[in-house]
Amino acid sequence: RVAHSSRFVSPRFSNFRISLSTLVLGEHKGGSIEASSLCAVEAAKRLGGDNSVSLLLAGSGPSLQEAAAHAACFHPSISKVLLADSERFTYALAEPWAKLVHLVQQKDSYSHIIAGSGSFGKNVLPRAAALLDVSPITDVTEISGSNLFVRPIYAGNALSTVRYTGSNPCMLTIRATSFPTGMAPASVSNDKCIEKIDLSAFNEDDADGKSRYVSISSQDTERPDLANARIVVTGGRGLKSAENFKMIEKLAEKLGAAVGATRAAVDAGFVPNELQVGQTGKIVAPELYMAFGVSGAIQHLAGIRDSKVIVAVNKDADAPIFQVMIKSLSHTHPIVMLSSFHVPVADYGLVGDLFEIIPELLEKLPEK
Ligand code: FAD
Repeated sequence: RVAHSSRFVSPRFSNFRISLSTLVLGEHKGGSIEASSLCAVEAAKRLGGDNSVSLLLAGSGPSLQEAAAHAACFHPSISKVLLADSERFTYALAEPWAKLVHLVQQKDSYSHIIAGSGSFGKNVLPRAAALLDVSPITDVTEISGSNLFVRPIYAGNALSTVRYTGSNPCMLTIRATSFPTGMAPASVSNDKCIEKIDLSAFNEDDADGKSRYVSISSQDTERPDLANARIVVTGGRGLKSAENFKMIEKLAEKLGAAVGATRAAVDAGFVPNELQVGQTGKIVAPELYMAFGVSGAIQHLAGIRDSKVIVAVNKDADAPIFQVMIKSLSHTHPIVMLSSFHVPVADYGLVGDLFEIIPELLEKLPEK
């Protein structure tokens, strides 16, 4: 089912909700809430009105309790934390999670359900939406009201303003890079708002999905998280080998940056898939994005458009990364506003051989 509504909307829909209540699907790790879920809470606040925000956390063991306490105490915008504490949620598999969302929605009838647009949200939310017979709106970058949302289309070359005209709940995934985390220490602990979900209605057979947890392999490093890093250093196919890619890692280490890669670099086996930036990888919006040996394909640019400053090093002066990209204009019409002005992709471009430039940079940059 298609998420957009390009129909002209009758005015009777414009104020059809009086009080709002939002369920945010929360990811947690090591006792803390993931930044993308905090951004989803912030997005929920922008729905306007008298919106009470509940954070849904599922898992098992002490790290779940720790994450819940953390969210309840320190996030001023969360009014309630709902806890699904069961071993069936130890690993965030989409099928039991979707059933859980369905169960919670049947009981509490939220007006909105929001998740971050990472692999967790993309996996769970559409399944839950199907169970609730709702068309989800994905990759929202701006919220202009309780039923009016902006999302990129055509790999980010245009922005579409979408009005939701369906029944409750309105279900969204939001791009974390477009919303702040909004985390601020609350002066008063409000950890009394943690509520355990009664899972007795959760039919065991219902959770039997087509996926099962096998193992997780993750490059757990000291480096910042790619999706939220202030600086990202990316390598492309121009690096030529996994061995050479280590130069990118060294440079990132010196700059306190996250490492990114193009799909070509991932496909060539230089680095794991989790480092891919772009349309089918992570969306980043750092203050500084440095691209080495990256041609600047449209699918890669889709993931870096919101970076504040882009620096590119490429030996080909005609590489697309040295050319212009279409920047989307603002959007006022509820259908689609096509983008209409061009800006250079790279704010700073250096035509040269990365095998000379990176060692020079490594030599000149001070030790961290
Ligand atoms: P190339 O295009 O091969 O560019 C390598 C560059 O390195 C060249 O410009 C070359 O001049 C330069 N170079 C070579 N040697 C040197 C040197 N010694 N010094 C300096 N420069 C050098 N791509 C993504 O990145 N992310 C995505 O999410 C993504 N999603 C996709 C989704 C779809 C549906 C499709 C069809 C494609 C997608 N792609 C994605 C792939 C994308 O189209 C490009 O193929 C890819 O981004 C190219 O990666 P690259 O720039 O590393 O490689």
